[in-house]
Amino acid sequence: MPNRKISIPSSKRIALVAHDNKKRDLLEWAGYNRQILGRHEIYATGTTGDMLKSKLGLVINRLESGPLGGDQQIGAKIVGEEIDFLIFFWDPLEPQPHDPDVKALLRMAVVWNIPIACNRSTADFMISSPLMEDEYDRLVPDYHAYRSRNTGKDS
Ligand code: PGA
Repeated sequence: MPNRKISIPSSKRIALVAHDNKKRDLLEWAGYNRQILGRHEIYATGTTGDMLKSKLGLVINRLESGPLGGDQQIGAKIVGEEIDFLIFFWDPLEPQPHDPDVKALLRMAVVWNIPIACNRSTADFMISSPLMEDEYDRLVPDYHAYRSRNTGKDS
C-alpha cells in the first residue's frame, strides 16, 4: 500500500491518559515536563485532565472520563487528525471495565501511525526527541484502496 503524509505541526496536539494506578506516575512525568507540555495543546480524559489542571495548572481540553467514553473520544480525534501524539499510561496489572476501549485506542494509534508512549521511559524518549520542536511528516498508508476494495457484494 502506498503511503501519504500527514503533518504533525511543531505545536502538537497531545493526549494524556492514565489509569488510576498510573496517575501518580503521569503526574510526576508531566510535572517534570511541565514547560515543554505548556508549549503544546493538551487533551486528556476526565479525571486525568482534572488532576493535571489542578496540580500543574495545565490548560486542558477535557474529554469524558475514560470508562465513560473518553478513550473512544481520543480515538475518534486521532482518526479525525485532531490529535497527533498520545501518552497513555495504562495499567498492566488490573482489568478495566473499558478494556475494549483501551484496545481500540491503541489500535487507532497504530492504524494512523501516531507516536504513542505506554510507559514513562518511552514518554521520556519521545518528549526529549528533537522532532518535538519541528513539524514532522508521519507516513500513513493510503487507505483509499482499502476503502474502495471489492467486497464481492455487488458481483
Ligand atoms: P480518567 O480515564 O482520566 O477519567 O480516569 C482514564 C482511563 O481510564 O482511560
